[in-house]
Amino acid sequence: MRANSHRWIDSLPQTLGFSHVTLDRLAEKRNDAVFLEDARHEPMSRTFVLAGDVPVVRRGDLPLDPLFKFADVPFATEIGEPIFLGLDDGHPRFVVTLPESVLPLIAEQQDIKAIDLRSIAVQGLVTTPHMNMLATAKALAAWHAKHRFCANCGAPTHPTSAGWKRHCDQCGTEHFPRTDPVVIMMAIKDDKCLMGRSPRFPPGMYSCLAGFMEPGESIEDAVRREIFEETGIACAEVAYHFAQPWPFPMSLMIGCIARATSEEITLDGAELDDACWVTRDELRQMLAGTHPGGMQAPTRMSIANHLMREFLEMP
Ligand SMILES: [Zn+2]
Repeated sequence: MRANSHRWIDSLPQTLGFSHVTLDRLAEKRNDAVFLEDARHEPMSRTFVLAGDVPVVRRGDLPLDPLFKFADVPFATEIGEPIFLGLDDGHPRFVVTLPESVLPLIAEQQDIKAIDLRSIAVQGLVTTPHMNMLATAKALAAWHAKHRFCANCGAPTHPTSAGWKRHCDQCGTEHFPRTDPVVIMMAIKDDKCLMGRSPRFPPGMYSCLAGFMEPGESIEDAVRREIFEETGIACAEVAYHFAQPWPFPMSLMIGCIARATSEEITLDGAELDDACWVTRDELRQMLAGTHPGGMQAPTRMSIANHLMREFLEMP
């Protein structure tokens, strides 16, 4: 963007999923065994429960309650060391991960159920702070599940620092949880923005383009490269708008808007079914669900939806 068209973002959009943080992570306490033991036994201490990477929640009215006392964790015969997430409103919050094999048992229960986090987010089934904590929990659980062996020497590793590291006793390497940066962006030109359709999308849905950042790239470079690779559109300036933790399995979506300098689309058929320029009027119709051609915007919890709204607000 040119400097005079930049809009300062003073707070995240309320409906942006996974992004609303109330947790004090208290990272300095992660190696304090006495603190962690006391925190676990504090009367208001609660834990989130994952079965594999699927959150377990209590059945009931919305918002659903995803918190359990340690004594009430279902099918808890195999709880390892819980992950310490931090303090929420002064009260300790943990995560325990049960094996995926308990999912059929949970499905038979009257008072609890397991629901995948994407459905929880799209349907707004828990509070926004709990959404963020579950995103953190799921991303950490996914990292632990995939990093059981040392990438340096191949020996088994074990969790330390209340679940925020893994250590290899064989070679001494410490392994830290990963976050994989993904750029998600909208190219704009005059009154139009560039929308794409992945083969994975539901019928009619169009969204922003997205792709993983590569080593050696700035955010701006990755945005320009991805847009060019997928559509052949060249871009000049790139402006960062906001980001969203995306725990599928452990990404950070970095939302940007880029100024396109060309218009002719050359589709990369491997990544996209279709790409097209959409006017602001059409974009409004997509967001309102009234587009005459049946084009649909992604759900309100997604960063793409909010980038589309940003474009409508821009001068
Ligand atoms: Zn090692």
